[in-house]
Amino acid sequence: MTADADGPLADRLARAITLAGPIPVSRFMAAANAHYYATRASIGQAGDFTTAPEISQMFGELIGAWATDLWDRAGQPAAAFVELGPGRGTLAADALRVMGKAGYRPVVHFIETSSRLRAEQAKRVPDAIWHNDVMTLPDDCPLIVIANEFFDALPIEQIVRATDGWRRRLVACQDTLFLPISGGAVPDTIIPEHLRDSPVGSIVESSPTTIDTIRSLSGKIAAQGGAALIIDYGYEGPLMGETLQAVHGHRFGNPFGSPGEIDLSAHVDFAVMSVAAAQAGVAVHGPTPQRDFLGMLGLATRAAALAKQSPAHADAVAAAYRRLSDTAAMGTLFRALAFTSRNWPEPAGFA
Ligand code: SAH
Repeated sequence: MTADADGPLADRLARAITLAGPIPVSRFMAAANAHYYATRASIGQAGDFTTAPEISQMFGELIGAWATDLWDRAGQPAAAFVELGPGRGTLAADALRVMGKAGYRPVVHFIETSSRLRAEQAKRVPDAIWHNDVMTLPDDCPLIVIANEFFDALPIEQIVRATDGWRRRLVACQDTLFLPISGGAVPDTIIPEHLRDSPVGSIVESSPTTIDTIRSLSGKIAAQGGAALIIDYGYEGPLMGETLQAVHGHRFGNPFGSPGEIDLSAHVDFAVMSVAAAQAGVAVHGPTPQRDFLGMLGLATRAAALAKQSPAHADAVAAAYRRLSDTAAMGTLFRALAFTSRNWPEPAGFA
């Protein structure tokens, strides 16, 4: 299912399902998001959802300071800067400005599949080198990798408890309506033991694409040196419950409602990511709440400096500070997780 083929994605998916039968939730989500990110100005106040770097320049700046500090204490190696899913390129531009001032001017690599967003990113970081996935990243230098709200966009699988056991959840199509149904049986043993006897209708999620990406990335960092910083919303699983969600115009909708027209995401499992990374040979730090991570990097000091610099914007800076760190906003739902090569120093921001 290509993003740029003719006709609305819903029609093409409906035809494909009618011809070949229901498809896994992961395929539905991958096709929907590829189309969505290829065709929509999704991110920011005017789009469907706002992310931390779009709330305030402080976010990217503190991440730039985090990367510079690590690079400096590692002995200032020729480490490339990598961002996964850079969106509009705002985070990278803010981070690279801070890094450049401190003398760290790395080659920049972006992992991005949407050509529309690649063009947007090129406006802010013209010299970047773009990739479709982590496999083609350089293999001859350390990597400092950032991913903010990237992994929540990767496809997930859902397994649903039916009357006769656990079954893979599929997406069927009736007329023009997409609806989830239970598909083939899966062995009980793939469900964590304490969740196996959950009531009918219970859902367990997993993201094989996330695990693959974390494995490749951590393997590279273990071999080449470097670090990765992942910030996202999520939980420490295994967990029972559905987190697949659709967001359109800053509101929640039906995830199966209009594929390709709304943003689909799922909470990430920090426990699974930590295990996959540790198995690949890197040291794992966190997860720690975003509020604590940004706090340790000096969010309050940066906010005070910005407010003093331009008093007319003091209220906006205070509002951004609260959105990034309040428990009722992004402060504790979002968490930071870092991996470092075993011969690199400890990263800042983790107690
Ligand atoms: N990090 C940005 C954008 C988050 S939105 C921010 O914080 O504002 C998710 C980003 O990941 C978008 O740039 C989207 O195009 C990209 N993306 C989603 N799925 C992808 C995939 N499978 N491979 C590469 N990039 C992907």
